[in-house]
Amino acid sequence: MSTNTRFMLSENDIPKYFYNIAADSPIGPTPVLHPQTKEPVTPDFLSAIFPMPIIEQEISSDRYIEIPEEVREIYKLWRPTPLIRALRLEKALNTPAHIYFKYEGVSPSGSHKSNTAVAQAYYNKIAGIKAITTETGAGQWGSALSMACKFFDMQLEVYMVKVSYEQKPARRYLMETFGSKVFASPSMQTHTGRTILAQDPENQGSLGIAISEAVEIAALSNGSKKYSLGSVLNHVLLHQTVIGEEALKQMDLADEYPDVVIGCVGGGSNFSGIAFPFLRENLKNGQRTRLLAVEPISTPSLTRGVYDFDFGDTAKMAPIVKMHTLGHDFMPPAIHAGGLRYHGMAPQLSALYDAELIEAIAIGQIEVFEAASLFAQTEGIIPAPESSHAIHAAINEANEAKEQGEKRVILFNLSGHGHFDLSAYHAFNSGKLENYDYPEEAIKNIKEHLPEINNNQPV
Ligand SMILES: *Cc1c(COP(=O)(O)O)cnc(C)c1O
Repeated sequence: MSTNTRFMLSENDIPKYFYNIAADSPIGPTPVLHPQTKEPVTPDFLSAIFPMPIIEQEISSDRYIEIPEEVREIYKLWRPTPLIRALRLEKALNTPAHIYFKYEGVSPSGSHKSNTAVAQAYYNKIAGIKAITTETGAGQWGSALSMACKFFDMQLEVYMVKVSYEQKPARRYLMETFGSKVFASPSMQTHTGRTILAQDPENQGSLGIAISEAVEIAALSNGSKKYSLGSVLNHVLLHQTVIGEEALKQMDLADEYPDVVIGCVGGGSNFSGIAFPFLRENLKNGQRTRLLAVEPISTPSLTRGVYDFDFGDTAKMAPIVKMHTLGHDFMPPAIHAGGLRYHGMAPQLSALYDAELIEAIAIGQIEVFEAASLFAQTEGIIPAPESSHAIHAAINEANEAKEQGEKRVILFNLSGHGHFDLSAYHAFNSGKLENYDYPEEAIKNIKEHLPEINNNQPV
């Protein structure tokens, strides 16, 4: 008997609502603090960098937020995304486990980031905004937002982490094709960039620095430009829940329910996107799915960071939030999974991890590419190095199921393809890929790098 491999939904099944974990999370929101006063932020401060509809979503506790028709129309270009059973990988592992993956790499920019990019561009557009600034690491976020801004006829300025700007010029060409302006960060465009370059002309950049530059431009634009962030914040996690809502329906089509849901974590958005609808089923409907976040050992904010208040960016311009962090001035090594090189973690996800509703593990770069190769050679898809962290964990789960002789149903999010990462695959194939260890020195000193805040902040 042949087994079904692809579980497809129709356009009518594109979710009509984003799911807001804030409605069901047993942990209330922690305050967001102003970077200078260290007092809870006012809407005024936030509205200097974000449009009102985004701020409303950021603080909303409504369980469901309707997805605008204009956004759903654009989602039709790639949604619903397929849910695929990795039968050939299962066979190679000789495991009794069933492995499913949700494939977000079918979006035009090749990752899940288009889901929030289109929503954010739309909400900026209806607020009358004509230009947006943002940062990008490996370039996936910049690509996604470039497309979205072009669709809504808005200008986009992208601050791209210098090491990626140099290693991955193809991503820049893609952004420029959509009409965006791209700067290597640190740049000479901002006070932040000029200060860093004056002290260290060879600085390779980090997401924290690029965020500072993009925020600075928006904050000093007298309202003409707003800033957009591709992960971490509540509204971004909210938009990504379309992934998990579709996956719930598709698992139903497959007539199975996952024992474990897995995703890689940089700022936490693709993992939250697939996991939160399953967490809702755990919290409200008695399901007991394990939710497993996977990070690189070189940037282990969940597994080795501290849970405390920290700045969202390096230059201390972004708000202070309570999250798992390695310190806002942490400089991650240049791993190929550029999208996972962020010092912090989404506050909502951090709180759920702290409450032990989410599990996390950290994995090294070589192991990640071993898993990526096996996946490519069995399933035919070259996965993004970021997503390959989730693949590695899925393989681990399948091997464990085999040892224990149990049928385990595993679902992971394949957040993107790796077509722009082939030089990393080349390094791996020729035995030249570097491995990295835990950043022990930085981990030891995190506390000294956190802002001093009044710990009696209202919660
Ligand atoms: C950006 C990116 C990530 C990491 O970001 P999250 O917000 O944690 O999802 C993971 N995978 C891919 C393909 C990315 O582009």
